[in-house]
Amino acid sequence: MNKDIATPIRTRTILEKHGFSFKKSLGQNFLIDTNVLHRIVDHANVSDSTGVIEIGPGIGALTEQLAKRAKKVVAFEIDGRLLPILADTLSPYENVRVIHEDILKADVLPIIEAEMKGIEDIMVVANLPYYVTTPIIMKLLTDNLPLRGIVVMLQKEVADRISANPGTKEYGSLSIAIQYYTTAETVMTVPRSVFVPQPNVDSAVIRLLKREEPAVKVDNETFFFEVVRASFAQRRKTILNNLTSNLPNGKQKKEVVEGCLANVNIDPKRRGETLSIQEFGKLSDELYRMLS
Ligand code: SAM
Repeated sequence: MNKDIATPIRTRTILEKHGFSFKKSLGQNFLIDTNVLHRIVDHANVSDSTGVIEIGPGIGALTEQLAKRAKKVVAFEIDGRLLPILADTLSPYENVRVIHEDILKADVLPIIEAEMKGIEDIMVVANLPYYVTTPIIMKLLTDNLPLRGIVVMLQKEVADRISANPGTKEYGSLSIAIQYYTTAETVMTVPRSVFVPQPNVDSAVIRLLKREEPAVKVDNETFFFEVVRASFAQRRKTILNNLTSNLPNGKQKKEVVEGCLANVNIDPKRRGETLSIQEFGKLSDELYRMLS
């Protein structure tokens, strides 16, 4: 029986055997600590009835731990050089399928339907490439996939912004975009020493559990996100100034915007970062009614 992939020695042996060199541009920082991997799999609550989508299997460190616990693992890897390595390292596991594709271009739903027939509990679990964490998470949430949730490693700074509460300096449009669809929680912080090569930022694992319904019911979702983005365009400006400067027609309709804020009991001098998602919902519905 082979030793786990995620040890410094086994990882070095695999890399040397295949003459693999890291591509920084693809966010290649591989995990070499099995305990960290076990904890990630625990936080995702993976069982033998779970189907897992992994993004970026690398040489298979996390994939292997997932394969031991899950019913099925489907892993998307952009770097073709890793495919023969994965075929080698993951050969003991029959429940793994590696797909050579950029996750941002992949049509994931038909793949889930084909590969995970009869599986109801589907989780995304990954150590994400840090150069594209936000687009990947947003794609997974907006593609309408039948997921229970997402447990991923990413830059600590981004994890802090995703799980931030109103009134903090980390809270912004990213917190709202993700908390609209999920409950978000940072479940682990991870030292740089558990990766090769070591990244130059701190890391954390977040758990996003999909809500049955979005956090707030709004009349027009696209407009809601426009209001949120406008409200945070310049963090030091008041909500009134940001909305009038950044919403289409906002400047000409300053009085309408002031009226809307008054109607939903939001002080025009407040800053966007103090508004809860529910307040943004009420405000966006009122602005939508009055501006469109
Ligand atoms: N899971 C492995 C581990 O934990 O050791 C590797 C994680 S490494 C941080 C990120 C992986 O994502 C790399 O294998 C990289 O080639 C892959 N990757 C980068 N961009 C990708 C994309 N757009 N789609 C799929 N995989 C990607």
